[in-house]
Amino acid sequence: MAAQKNWGNCKGCRYFSSSNSNPSDTDVAKCKQSELQEFDLSVSGASGCNAFEARAGVAGGVYQEPAPGMH
Ligand code: SF4
Repeated sequence: MAAQKNWGNCKGCRYFSSSNSNPSDTDVAKCKQSELQEFDLSVSGASGCNAFEARAGVAGGVYQEPAPGMH
């Protein structure tokens, strides 16, 4: 089974709306991904999808946009 390249776990995803700065597999939070937000999904840390985007950094729930064009 081929891994999907953008797939990742919610606990490491920037859209995982957890108040925990280091969410675990069992933490449940809303998904704030723009296309998924309309479904008001609650997902667990061990869940995941291919809209995953790694968090740029953990800063108390403040999501930071990656700098455009940065290599
Ligand atoms: S469902 Fe997908 S986009 Fe939403 S928090 Fe989980 S990995 Fe991120």
